[in-house]
Amino acid sequence: MARKRILIWYRNDLRIHDHEPIYKGLQEEAIIIPCYCFERRQFTTTSFGLAKTGKYRAQFLLESVSDLRNSLQKLGSNLLVRCGLPEEIIPNLVRELNIDAVYYHQEVTAEELKVEKKLQQELSKLKVEMQSFWGATLYLPEDLPFKIEEIPELYTNFRKQVEKKSAIEEPISTPEKLPTLPEVDTGSIPNLADFDLETPVFDERAVLKFKGGETAAIERLNHYFWQADCLKEYKETRNGMLGADYSSKFSPWLARGCISPRYIYDRVQQYEAERVKNNSTYWLIFELIWRDFFRFICAKHGNKIFYLSGLQGIDIPWKEDWQRFDLWREGKTGYPLVDANMRELALTGFMSNRGRQNVASFLTKNLGINWQMGAEWFESLLIDYDVCSNWGNWNYTAGVGNDARGFRYFNIMKQAKDYDSKGDYVRHWLPELASIPGSKVHEPWKLTTEEQKRYGVRLGVDYPRPVVDFFKSVKANEKIYNSAVI
Ligand SMILES: Cc1cc2nc3c(=O)[nH]c(=O)nc-3n(C[C@H](O)[C@H](O)[C@H](O)COP(=O)(O)OP(=O)(O)OC[C@H]3O[C@@H](n4cnc5c(N)ncnc54)[C@H](O)[C@@H]3O)c2cc1C
Repeated sequence: MARKRILIWYRNDLRIHDHEPIYKGLQEEAIIIPCYCFERRQFTTTSFGLAKTGKYRAQFLLESVSDLRNSLQKLGSNLLVRCGLPEEIIPNLVRELNIDAVYYHQEVTAEELKVEKKLQQELSKLKVEMQSFWGATLYLPEDLPFKIEEIPELYTNFRKQVEKKSAIEEPISTPEKLPTLPEVDTGSIPNLADFDLETPVFDERAVLKFKGGETAAIERLNHYFWQADCLKEYKETRNGMLGADYSSKFSPWLARGCISPRYIYDRVQQYEAERVKNNSTYWLIFELIWRDFFRFICAKHGNKIFYLSGLQGIDIPWKEDWQRFDLWREGKTGYPLVDANMRELALTGFMSNRGRQNVASFLTKNLGINWQMGAEWFESLLIDYDVCSNWGNWNYTAGVGNDARGFRYFNIMKQAKDYDSKGDYVRHWLPELASIPGSKVHEPWKLTTEEQKRYGVRLGVDYPRPVVDFFKSVKANEKIYNSAVI
């Protein structure tokens, strides 16, 4: 009997370790045909007209696919690469290569599910089996102590129960050899120009030179855990904003599936056994559980996560003030902490978690601007964009998500003093304020005329005056929020 032929449809799982579809195919002694489709629709525009996939993430994706192809080649296989729509490309390949089944990792959000459904329809016409696997989280849905529909709305309730009642399975073993591909045109990997994107210029101030792919992901883990030995103090440093090692920076690789969370968990356990087990080693897992949480919440609520009224269904009259939105995204609000973070994002495709919380709070709680505009700007630029983590966190910061605490805002000046006490981060990204010493840099509007002269900063000329009065704007937006809630 001819060997079964299985097409592995790669999506956000660009790795060979901990990869169940490949593992299953090998168990069945099938001929495995790995394939990646660059989806045209991922390179269109968002509802507010922003580039859906900006240059930073596009470059990271190209590098990840290229690394995957190299790894597969080393194992005796290869990666078929195509550009277009999976629901058209895959059925064509099925016909061309006599494929019996398509295995893939399932997603949970609307656009991705739509593709799965369309493909399913096409494949059923060809009587080809389509089998989905779950591979993006620490915990598997079947190992949770509740059904997806009953996932607790609050993170703490979710975490406490899974920690108590569920186990994290070991990563699936990495194949050592793969079957050779049948005769086929493997296709070439496109470049940024094919998507009308320019090659990003690396900014030396960036936290890290992120490189896509499983190889770089594992190198980063080895650096962070073993060589630089940072994990033991992660909890103390994770709120930083400057430099490569204040946090793991695993997010871009996790988002494209170049590294699996279970692999990270496994290495944390090894670190705990060989080096030290403490609050910090636990805290990395705590943060990865946040990631799980948002994915399961998306699976539970479907499209609600994208609604303006959010998961809670609160109808807030948000503004679509493009003039102020532009000041925010260009880093010209007159609040240095916000501006420094927004410029870092625009120039590198990355921003720290502390930064993200502050800028999202400022957009929604001070400017009162439609949070979806912010979420789409992040979607466009973030190298680590993950649909569930991004939209889930934006729901949360906008006060329409599963956060029971109502209107909460970040006091930007206090945050600046707590997390950038000497002003180094702000000066790093705002050259026009670089001569203002210490924490004075956080409140340039307080500089006397004399000081402005001394530091060579003319307020309103070299650096903007605050776009809004901080506390008045918070009060006004709180009022709007509270009347929407009642
Ligand atoms: C408004 C907003 C939007 C965000 N958008 C994204 C996004 O698109 N993609 C994304 O991966 N993260 C997003 N985050 C979460 C978080 O900011 C990043 O995961 C983190 O900054 C990445 O840096 P790191 O890998 O060094 O994190 P670490 O502190 O080292 O954390 C380790 C891992 O835990 C996970 N994690 C940590 N915090 C969160 C969180 N709050 N929510 C979900 N997962 C978390 C990430 O996978 C991260 O890589 C967003 C946060 C906010 C406030």
